[in-house]
Amino acid sequence: MKLSDLTVEAVNLALDEFDLRGRDGFLSKYHYGPARAYFVVRNGTRYDSKAVVGAAYGYLPGQDAVRSNDFSGGDKTVATVLRKLGFEVQVAPTQNPDWARDELILACDLVAKNGWRELRSTDDRVGELSALLQQLPLHPPATRLDTFRNRKGVARKTLDLASLLPGRTAIHSGKLDLLVLNDFRAAPEDMARVADQIRQTVADGSTSVDLSVAFEDEDEGASEGRILQRQHFARERDRKLRQRKINDFKAKHDNQVYCEVCLFDFGYFYGARGRDYIEVHHVVPLSQSGETTNRLKDLVLLCANCHRMIHRRSPWLKPDELRALIGNV
Ligand SMILES: [Zn+2]
Ligand SMILES: [Zn+2]
Repeated sequence: MKLSDLTVEAVNLALDEFDLRGRDGFLSKYHYGPARAYFVVRNGTRYDSKAVVGAAYGYLPGQDAVRSNDFSGGDKTVATVLRKLGFEVQVAPTQNPDWARDELILACDLVAKNGWRELRSTDDRVGELSALLQQLPLHPPATRLDTFRNRKGVARKTLDLASLLPGRTAIHSGKLDLLVLNDFRAAPEDMARVADQIRQTVADGSTSVDLSVAFEDEDEGASEGRILQRQHFARERDRKLRQRKINDFKAKHDNQVYCEVCLFDFGYFYGARGRDYIEVHHVVPLSQSGETTNRLKDLVLLCANCHRMIHRRSPWLKPDELRALIGNV
């Protein structure tokens, strides 16, 4: 048997039979165990991909169904062949997604507050953190297992983090774990404040948006994590704030608006379409200011390019630093 012999018709017939017999009946007839990772999807229904392919052989002229033991191709090969035939194949997660920086900040904060010791899964604080992490929109539901950030997993992470301290034996040395831990050791108060802000932002309900997809302008390494970063950008895009700053700037600059770093003027360059366009940048990251009020003196007007360059990498540049960088000192 060759996987390349398979046809769309044979696979569809096998799927029809699956529908008819039900999953248990189908799997037991063809002697397959339930699939763990790869599923063919037809009309929104998921089918165990390997069993379907094994059965599909029986629908090819002059061929017999193939049993699990006689299968030469791995799950991945089977998925590739099905996709080539035009079928949708879903890969179920086999493990929970890696911890994001925001999650590690919260876990590390707990470890720090616990005298740099791990916490037990029965600890109330572990239960609270577990509930909070399950609520964060950092990982899409389809990537999570039932055990996602449960008490046991959270307690385990506190143990991992605590074990990374100098003089202890690292149990699991994740690169990001170590980075976040070192951020905490270098600036314990700052990081504790960042953790507070993340909790506050989540409690305010302002993180209901999906954060699992990174924005182009996001800096993955931002020490404050994605939640506060996204919150920072949301604040900068606030219409009222933008208008307030533009009006103030115009009053002081002969009714003009332009980039305060490179002097780019959208209205001058693009004509009517660009008139009054400018981006507002908050010089103080939300994680540092810890306040939601916007003082005009903390705001600066930037063109889209300069704004992007400031946010491109952590730590964010100050406008003066960008000015120096482009020689417009
Ligand atoms: Zn500029
Ligand atoms: Zn900005």
